Amino acid sequence: KYNEEMMKRKKLFNEVQEAKGNIRVFCRCRPLNKVETSSGCSTVVDFDAAKDGCLGIFTNGSTKKSFRFDRVYTPKDDQVDVFADASSMAVSVLDGYNVCIFAYGQTGTGKTFTMEGTEQNRGVNYRTLELLFKISKERSETFAYDISVSVLEVYNEQIRDLLATGPTSKRLEIKQASEGSHHVPGVVEAKVDNINEVWNVLQAGSNARAVGSNNINEHSSRSHCMLCIMVKAKNLMNGECTKSKLWLVDLAGSERLARTDVQGERLKEAQNINRSLSALGDVISALAAKSSHIPYRNSKLTHLLQDSLGGDSKTLMFVQISPSDQDVGETLSSLNFATRVRGVELGPVKKQIDTSELQKIKAMLEKARSECRNKD
Ligand code: ADP
Ligand code: MG
Repeated sequence: KYNEEMMKRKKLFNEVQEAKGNIRVFCRCRPLNKVETSSGCSTVVDFDAAKDGCLGIFTNGSTKKSFRFDRVYTPKDDQVDVFADASSMAVSVLDGYNVCIFAYGQTGTGKTFTMEGTEQNRGVNYRTLELLFKISKERSETFAYDISVSVLEVYNEQIRDLLATGPTSKRLEIKQASEGSHHVPGVVEAKVDNINEVWNVLQAGSNARAVGSNNINEHSSRSHCMLCIMVKAKNLMNGECTKSKLWLVDLAGSERLARTDVQGERLKEAQNINRSLSALGDVISALAAKSSHIPYRNSKLTHLLQDSLGGDSKTLMFVQISPSDQDVGETLSSLNFATRVRGVELGPVKKQIDTSELQKIKAMLEKARSECRNKD
């Protein structure tokens, strides 16, 4: 009975999914910070139509450029609001989907805040794991789940295992075991059974990130931090097993450095960041355009994410922006990138869906959302 219900839900969900495409773009704007407020910066973002997924940027004086995304979060929206929308995609890893959620944007716009958050204000990573454990417990009579995590950093096109202990002189490389199964041999996959364990693992990863860099903030803005959640699911009714992956990625800052500032090591860093972020944009565009060649191999970032970008996997991008007039150039550039990512996918609806069923799903989601809110 339960299984039947699950199958029905999954089928409906898939139909909605198929109709809407597998790529979502959510835009989140942080509040003006103290320094900006005290130095007289003004806000260039117009949130009047944020509820409809629209936002406007005043580029100079009265000229306004409009953008449209799947969601727009104003500075007043909190971590709970954001997770309420992201959670269904994140937890579909339990149903066998590969998923990739990443935060893109200029340094200081809240990428780490959205993904990691703070201890008082947890972000997507923690909330996702918490919900995965909760759901897997609820389903324990029908499914046996095995959850493990890896934490990687990609810096200058090199992969570093943040959970590795002991000497790590070995160069980590990406290997393909079979179709749709890329992995990095030798990387630590820490099995986790509850949220407290995960927290310790994530802390260890965070601490490892700081080792060997004299300025952790600068370092983290120039590297991609990638949390991979691997799920093995066994259906206890029919013995069927699935393996799936959820990537949660805090990307390097997307800002362009002024040409004159950049030399030596910095130049190399900047080029590698540009290369991987454009590779990410190229891969998603190629997927959306249903290109026969998807250029995954152009960067370590896209190569690592390969199994979770494209096919029937799901992608969610947070484009993070600053509200300040001083950042308007970078803001426009991020929004243009995000538009390119979202653009092609939202073509004509492929499949006609029974609207009464859609209403039901909407109600279901709304209920889950309010439960989630009440819990917090
Ligand atoms: P990034 O990772 O993009 O460089 P951070 O996540 O470090 O940016 O955010 C920069 C600062 O702004 C941090 O102090 C963070 O706590 C704060 N911040 C970012 N987004 C928000 C938000 N939505 N609400 C409140 N504070 C935020
Ligand atoms: Mg950061």
